[in-house]
Amino acid sequence: MMSGPQRRTVRDLRRGNRAVLLRALYFGGPASRQELTGSTGLSAATVSNVTGDLLAEGVIVEAGQVESDGGRPRVLLRVNPEHGYAIGVDVGETHVRVELFDLAMTERAKADYALRPARHEAELVARHILAGIDVVLAEAGVGSERMLGVGIGVPGIVEQGPGPVIHAQTFGWESVPLEALLRQGTDLPLFIDNGAKTMGQAELWFGAGRGARHAVVALVGSGVGANIVTDSDTYRGATGSAGEWGHTTVAVGGRRCRCGSLGCLEAYVGAEGVLGRYAEAGGTVASDDEQTALAALLEDDSPAARRVVEETVTFLGAGLGNLINLFNPERIVVGGWAGLLLGRRHLAALREAARRHALALPYGQTTIELGELGPDAVALGAATLVVESFLR
Ligand SMILES: [Zn+2]
Repeated sequence: MMSGPQRRTVRDLRRGNRAVLLRALYFGGPASRQELTGSTGLSAATVSNVTGDLLAEGVIVEAGQVESDGGRPRVLLRVNPEHGYAIGVDVGETHVRVELFDLAMTERAKADYALRPARHEAELVARHILAGIDVVLAEAGVGSERMLGVGIGVPGIVEQGPGPVIHAQTFGWESVPLEALLRQGTDLPLFIDNGAKTMGQAELWFGAGRGARHAVVALVGSGVGANIVTDSDTYRGATGSAGEWGHTTVAVGGRRCRCGSLGCLEAYVGAEGVLGRYAEAGGTVASDDEQTALAALLEDDSPAARRVVEETVTFLGAGLGNLINLFNPERIVVGGWAGLLLGRRHLAALREAARRHALALPYGQTTIELGELGPDAVALGAATLVVESFLR
């Protein structure tokens, strides 16, 4: 008679095989059973059994045929985009955006709620999210029974646990139990993570990080953070705060940072820090809007502007060098709206600055690329939290 632990092992194995095949089809696109046997290392019998189950459940569907040399044409399989749906939510400084995606990550519906500056009460944000969920479900005509869950990207540190708790200084959130607030209005599975991490995951799945097992997505906006991926998994640390790259010290006793410390990377390369340094150097900040002001600064040919931009590139390069030395990534993706603005003009200088601040060997084994998805990928990335759980 089979003992308990062994029964679990068999079930785990079956679930593991499902996950392996689903991931192969999700990330590798349509494939025949023969191709899946080759790419996953599973036996032909296992592939046949598991794909049979998945077809019967409607999780995967047939997607045409390909000729095979001499034999019968082979049937291609793919994940059924309409098997389930995921909602992604971007909780930003100025808006709450709720988007509904099918499993192919095609956007099916969208709702936007403006947030006024300094009005980020957790109850208000939760109300917008709940209203948005209702709106996108109705607009897409999708019943909640077909929803796999809701992923939510929020600012600050998300302390993961049975009831995740959010600490977001810029929102005035101290230990906000967002999930508990949302539970008053929805039964859908909820997945909450830092917005920079969700955007990083979008880049890894669908953008410049595709295919990399060891990667860092370095996000530079007003704030600065990183999504560190080791062996295809996001590194989170003990309670989920790992990746606070912006608050690593690049100048001991240096500029005051928004976190209260001195000399953080963010105080030098975050948009607020860059514009602050420019003002201190006697420059005129062109606009109250950070994006407009930073774009103008990058176009400005004055000696003060050029010096500030040059220093920014050096500090950011040093920060990238630190990531290279610490994590030995095969790829670094620079994203975030400010990172993209700077990187589009100064990528070569940025790579050179990183080279100067990294060990030669790991630097030679990495590439530094720009993000492909743009700064609006937070909601898409949040939806990948849901899909990630589905693929497991
Ligand atoms: Zn800091």
